[in-house]
Parts: sequence; C-alpha cells; structure tokens
Amino acid sequence: MSALAPYAADSAHTRGRRQHEPTPPGRSDFERDRDRIIHSTAFRRLEYKTQVFVNHEGDLFRTRLTHSIEVAQIGRTIARNLQLNEVLVEAIALAHDLGHTPFGHAGQDELNACMKQHGGFEHNLQSLRVVDLLEERYAEFDGLNLCFETREGILKHCSLPNARTMGDVGERFLLDQRPSLEAQVTNLADEIAYNNHDVDDGLRSGLITLEQLSNTSLFARHLAMTQEKHAGLDGRRLIHETVRRMINTLVMDLIEQSSSNIRAIAPASIDDVRHAPPLIAFSPALVNEQRELKQFLREHLYRHYQVNRMSMKTRRIVRELFNIFFEMPSLLPPQYQEKATTDKARTIADYIAGMTDRYAYREHRRLFAIEEI
Ligand code: MG
Repeated sequence: MSALAPYAADSAHTRGRRQHEPTPPGRSDFERDRDRIIHSTAFRRLEYKTQVFVNHEGDLFRTRLTHSIEVAQIGRTIARNLQLNEVLVEAIALAHDLGHTPFGHAGQDELNACMKQHGGFEHNLQSLRVVDLLEERYAEFDGLNLCFETREGILKHCSLPNARTMGDVGERFLLDQRPSLEAQVTNLADEIAYNNHDVDDGLRSGLITLEQLSNTSLFARHLAMTQEKHAGLDGRRLIHETVRRMINTLVMDLIEQSSSNIRAIAPASIDDVRHAPPLIAFSPALVNEQRELKQFLREHLYRHYQVNRMSMKTRRIVRELFNIFFEMPSLLPPQYQEKATTDKARTIADYIAGMTDRYAYREHRRLFAIEEI
C-alpha cells in the first residue's frame, strides 16, 4: 500500500477495540478486522439477501454479497487515489450491509414497523449489533471485537435517541462531528455502486428500458459517448459500456472534488477531519445528475407495480413471522427462546433480520402452510 496521507486513518494509531487485543503478527489491526468480517456467518448470509429483486428472481441480479464487493472495489480505488487507508475502506464496505433484513428495503421497513413500540429497527444499527454482539465465534468476547474506526464507519446513520445509547461510536452524531475520510469514501462508494447496478439490474429485468433511462442526463450523456465510440453497438454490451463509463465518471469526479476539498482545508490529522465539514463529495453538477437518476429509479424501478407486488408479499412474510413469534415465543428455535425471556421483541428482530430471503420464505411456509410438516 502506498504511503498514507497525514489525514488518513492509520491502524497503528487506532482508538482500539472494545476489548483490548495486541496487534497480530503479519497483519495490521484493520486487516484483522477485514478478515474477521469475511469469516463471519453474517457475511456468508449476504449471498442470499437482495435489495430490489428477491433472491429467486434470477441468478444474475446483484445480491448483498456482490454489492458489498462492488462497494469495496470502488471504495479502494478512491481511497488509493486520495492516499487514504484502503484496508479500512474495504473492511467497512464488506461489513456495511451485515445487518440488513431479508427482502431488501421492504423487509427493513416492515421490521421497523413491527418494532415501533420496541425501539424500532435501523439496519445500520443492526450491522453494528452483528459485529459487536450477535456473531458467536470467539472464546473471549461476543461479536467480532472490531476497531473503533471500522465500527464508526459501519454506523453510517443513527437517530439522536439511539446515538445517546451507542457510547463511543454514537458521540459524533451528538457533537456534530464527521467520521474518518475512509468512512465518508465508503458511504459514497455505496451510492455509486447501487445507483449503477440498479440501472444494470433494472434493464436486465425489463422493468425499465433504455428509452426511459435516456430521459436522465447522466445516463443519456454516457449512452451518447458510447454510441459515438461504438456505432451500432446494442444489447448487453451497449448497457455495460454505458454503465462502466458512468461509474468511471462518478469515481473520477469524486476523487477530484474531494482532493480539492482536502487541499482547501489541509487537515493535518484525522482529528482535523472530524472537526471539518464533510470533505468527500461529488461536484455540484454531478450531485444534481445523480439526484435526477435516483428520482428516476425511485419512480420507475423501486415503485414499479411488479416490485410493489413482491414487496407486499415479502412485507407480509416479515410481519406474520414477527407477530406469531411475539404471540408464541415457544415457536422460536431454543437459543432464541432463551434470549427472548429478557428482551422478546429485540430477540425476534435479531432472528428475523438474520434470515436470508429463502430462509424467511421457508420459515413462513413451515409455520403457516398447512400441507407443510
Ligand atoms: Mg449498501
């Protein structure tokens, strides 16, 4: 890895782990965090969780696992160009969706509604809960015992009431401070990844068309660039050549704008970064173009009637699972029954949030389909 800038997060100066462990031989502390995330159970579950499309709809759509890998790839490129800590970006990217429920946003919204009287459900908070508490792998601690900087990056958003209960990683929301530049990079790498892969998956699904997308300036501009270079190109290659150009434009713009923001403030340390305004940012022109694209995806893809139909069904699965377990905790697997005696609602939320799409679907059938034994 190239030399880190003075404002980068340096694993040699980590604020440490919740439970002290010496730095391992052969790896930095952030490398150990990344490795623990990759070896976790929650990470393997990402393969069978989706965002827009439900897992069984097709083998070629992004899953949360491939999404997380794309975020890590995009984030590392940006980090390297800004002399930030690539390994920390990779660790945050691979962990950022660990707390997601089955069935994407529909699942998350429904579980939040079920938990309304019990403190709510936020997927960022749940990702942190997975790495701090829920993974059961190590003899000496619950969770993965990750470094402060990795945990801070995972907790992207947090409501103020929750921030007050979060200890060290909640502080910045109360003090109006920024996280490390590595956390900021991962957040925007996430945005680049999902906007572009939703365009790609949306076109693949046939729910949106090239003609419709051409009404957004970001897509139209890159489609025109592709067609100028490759007259007559069509089908999958035309889509991919366009999407890869959009990703490249966004990544290069983010690097340039962020470099200039960093130069203007000249932070001498990560502490200066925490007290500065957000420094990782797109140029104003691209912020507007991305907003238009997001608006398009919301209207034409995320609220497409076929997506709505699937969301209605998956929300019902989540709601019925929650209600039946809440009514009859004796239906929970034994390890959850035990925990449910102290905090029933949160235990059920943990159980449901940990399910993959197909596990939730099967669990629902096992409990409600009469012909299923
Ligand atoms: Mg994400």
